[in-house]
Amino acid sequence: MAEIIRTIPEPNKTVDVVRECDVVVVGGGPGGIGAAIAAARNGADTVLIERYGHLGGMSTGGLVTIIPCMSDFDGNLQIAGINQEFIERLSERKAEFHPPMDIWGSDDPKLVNYWNERSFFWVRERRIIYSSLIDAEIGKCILNSMVNEAGIKTYLHAWGTMPIMEGNKPVGVVFESKSGRQAIMAKVVIDATGDGDLLPFTGATFDTDIDPRIRIANLSLCYWIDNVNLVKVEDFRREYPDKWGEMMMELMQKGGHPGFMRSNLPNQEKVVWVHPRYANKSQTDVEELTRVEMLGREKMLITFDYFQKNIPGFEESFIVLSSPQLGTRGARRVHGDYMVTSEDLQRNVPFDDTIAVFPDLDRGKNSIESPLTFIPYRSLLPKGVDNMLVGCRAFSSDQETNNFFNLIPHCIALGEAAGTAAALSLKQGVTVRDVDIEALKKQLIKQDVILPGAYPDKYKKPGCDRVTVFEVPFFGEWQVPKKDGNQIKAEH
Ligand SMILES: Cc1cc2nc3c(=O)[nH]c(=O)nc-3n(C[C@H](O)[C@H](O)[C@H](O)COP(=O)(O)OP(=O)(O)OC[C@H]3O[C@@H](n4cnc5c(N)ncnc54)[C@H](O)[C@@H]3O)c2cc1C
Repeated sequence: MAEIIRTIPEPNKTVDVVRECDVVVVGGGPGGIGAAIAAARNGADTVLIERYGHLGGMSTGGLVTIIPCMSDFDGNLQIAGINQEFIERLSERKAEFHPPMDIWGSDDPKLVNYWNERSFFWVRERRIIYSSLIDAEIGKCILNSMVNEAGIKTYLHAWGTMPIMEGNKPVGVVFESKSGRQAIMAKVVIDATGDGDLLPFTGATFDTDIDPRIRIANLSLCYWIDNVNLVKVEDFRREYPDKWGEMMMELMQKGGHPGFMRSNLPNQEKVVWVHPRYANKSQTDVEELTRVEMLGREKMLITFDYFQKNIPGFEESFIVLSSPQLGTRGARRVHGDYMVTSEDLQRNVPFDDTIAVFPDLDRGKNSIESPLTFIPYRSLLPKGVDNMLVGCRAFSSDQETNNFFNLIPHCIALGEAAGTAAALSLKQGVTVRDVDIEALKKQLIKQDVILPGAYPDKYKKPGCDRVTVFEVPFFGEWQVPKKDGNQIKAEH
């Protein structure tokens, strides 16, 4: 943390108001996309402010191109709405890939092995689940289309710096850009910055504590290495497992990253994804962010040089991209009217104000006992602050809950609920805290959000038959095993 040497008063200044709107959403990541699109589609004049030049947050700019855990162990889709629409639009362009719906939930060992070999995101507890691998670049373009079609006024390259407060109510947001310092006035403000950047200026309280052993405690700088001959790499790894182990150990001692992932699209088969994690003192401290950004690239070079020199298959490879935005997982978590805690994960009972249902897949035996987690609307409402919602990973949750449920589809769903509630509250002439919950749930269901007791027919599966599969090649031909045993080319 930077030491504060002294403070100086800022000269009094006025800020130009460049727009007045119904809803302003700060942050254009998964949460912000869900929030802005839902608010605009529900009739609110909506502004979206994003600090970078693209939308999607971690799911595009962070190179986190995996939208995971959308079906439960029985293979039923649980997160739909805008998230599913995004995936379907990617799919139309062959820019995403997932196991076919009829095998979600299957525990057929051959199928499970087949999909697990390609990406561990497709299997949980020896069952196939619905996770989607996406193309980040096409994703950015589709998100642009979605916000433009919804009539949202978007400001890119615009950093939301602070809310404009009237008592305990934000009534707008100041943002900074190459155009200087400007303001947008709004009836509802949605913090979708992921990090909860607006919270410290609203009077809201929040947590930043994270056990250093858990996933969200880490920063990341992902990178992709292209033109890798993975068949050669895998042959080598299988033929010389001991040597492989020694090499990875040596690489680690040199300060590099042992191992990589292959969770990419069929037409990206020469790309491997390196996904390092960095301990840190804070995920919002500028000195820490700078340190990790620098360290990440230093370690990327060590790793790449080692792979290229030592591992058959990497000879012609090159670093195609390091993540345009640093991977941040856990900064501030607001104290809401309700905080979702680890006790709720074991409950399996919906709340009256459930606005999202998340398959609970990552907690081993506990998940099997408690396969669904319900998220109440109150966890989006900062305690003691009016006119404001938190529609992103900064929602009100303890660290364990956040660790499992701050993922991309989850944040799109939280955002969709926040945006819908914001627009609805304006229609009803009430504050977001007083929005009619039954009307909110009804509207979310209309938007194909899956809520307790309302399962859209179009997502009902015919049943999850156990399927047989023939041996399929490990790499090269991406062939999807089919029930009748015929192997056909992957279909999107
Ligand atoms: C390396 C890594 C791997 C991960 N793996 C997975 C995975 O495999 N699958 C998965 O689903 N999830 C994964 N996650 C978690 C997931 O990516 C995030 O939790 C999710 O993207 C959170 O969405 P969000 O909208 O809350 O925040 P973010 O994705 O962080 O988006 C926040 C957006 O707000 C913008 N922003 C921030 N501050 C401001 C500001 N002050 N003004 C204007 N704009 C601002 C950011 O630029 C960004 O676009 C991973 C995360 C990391 C870092």
